[in-house]
Amino acid sequence: MADTFAAIATPLGEGGVGIVRVSGPGSLNIMKGVFKECPDKVEPRHVYYGHALDASGNVIDEMICIYMRAPHTFTGEDVVEFQAHGSNVSLRLIVMSAISAGARIADPGEFTKLAFLNGKLDLSQAEAVIDLIKARSEKPLSIASDQLNGSLGQEIVAIRNNIKDVLAQMAVNIDFPDEDIEQVSCDEFITELKRQNDRLQSLIKSSEFGKIAREGIKIALVGRTNVGKSSLLNGLLGENRAIVTDIPGTTRDTIEESSSIGGYPIVVVDTAGIRDTDDVIEQIGIERSKNEIEEADLVVMVADGSTELAAEDFEIAEHVANKKVMLVINKEDLGMTAAQSDIDKLKSIIGCDTGDIVYTSVKTVKGIGKVRDAIERNLARGFIKSDGGNIVTNERHKDALVRAKAALVHGIELLEMREPLEVAEIEVHDSFQILGEIIGETASEEILDTVFSKFCLGK
Ligand code: GDP
Repeated sequence: MADTFAAIATPLGEGGVGIVRVSGPGSLNIMKGVFKECPDKVEPRHVYYGHALDASGNVIDEMICIYMRAPHTFTGEDVVEFQAHGSNVSLRLIVMSAISAGARIADPGEFTKLAFLNGKLDLSQAEAVIDLIKARSEKPLSIASDQLNGSLGQEIVAIRNNIKDVLAQMAVNIDFPDEDIEQVSCDEFITELKRQNDRLQSLIKSSEFGKIAREGIKIALVGRTNVGKSSLLNGLLGENRAIVTDIPGTTRDTIEESSSIGGYPIVVVDTAGIRDTDDVIEQIGIERSKNEIEEADLVVMVADGSTELAAEDFEIAEHVANKKVMLVINKEDLGMTAAQSDIDKLKSIIGCDTGDIVYTSVKTVKGIGKVRDAIERNLARGFIKSDGGNIVTNERHKDALVRAKAALVHGIELLEMREPLEVAEIEVHDSFQILGEIIGETASEEILDTVFSKFCLGK
């Protein structure tokens, strides 16, 4: 019989409420041992108020207690939740008390692993639980939430079912080549498999966006010193992170901070400038800036519109010309002195659209808002997948999709070359098996261990 385990389910620290969760067939007995006012007959899904007892039977805290009966629980087994005050000491004593009543400490991720093993979630849904917990802004949260609802799992199941139908027909053709039963032709196999291949391709493509949704869009701020980069960084983050001064070269090193725009996580890097210098410390910063620019998804170049543009502005523009660039002409409040022809020249060097040029004053909240809006418009055009389809955010899923697609493509090629059906069938079957890894149907113990080792205790 399965055993019963317990763990603190809420983050360690001080909080209004903290939860200890117990799962397994012995949950009700543990409730009887830990909950002072436990009635003889406990109603499932009722909230009981009373007191928690430590392992020696002393009252340690007030709590409410809920018993949920299998199989309609997260893990699929009996579950009890103790909701006490969010004190590390109190919660630990409750766990100790549960142990003395017969539970053992849960392994990290064990609640979710059990939910998977009991068929409550497929593996992609279980993984969505971690993504949801770790989401840094609204969009990654909504992608994880869709995945938790099973949208990716359902698409994988649908693709696998279609491949399975082809495999079944292939088996008929292989086993009864000369019989007078209706055989599906090789061309029909190819057509159907290509259709599934397109679906795999579109999921693989979505992972480009998935990475951005998960890790954030990296934005590098570039420009001469004193044009307003640090002010823009602070404005975008809404906090005074970088030191803003009148002394050119203050930002010696790169400064990286995260925030979100339009629900997407952004990572903003303020670069130290990229002009040649003899100062050794500054050189290190400059080297790092060049790397940051290389890695950035979007470069925001800031120029000071209140003075004539300088040769260095054009040098910087040349340096970032191969990237996706937006241009911010700053210090509008001081009046526009920079010649329009020079601004046009910058625009043509970096190759941005007129809509990607923002005239503003980043010293004001409104001015920052204009830059945020322009960045959001830019993200909507270049980075965001808007067809409503599934988005693959997990590297393990992407890897399996790439392998499944390779096997399927190989199978299609063999069919096109009219190789024996048995040979093509092996590849198509491989593809079917590999797709099963995503939802956990064909996942090895090793894959499961890797997935669940990423979970925290109590999840
Ligand atoms: P960085 O060297 O490019 O990071 O530039 P900073 O953000 O440190 O700004 C340099 C100076 O310009 C500071 O004194 C800022 O207050 C000032 N500054 C930045 N943006 C504006 C602006 O829009 N208008 C005005 N008048 N001053 C600004």
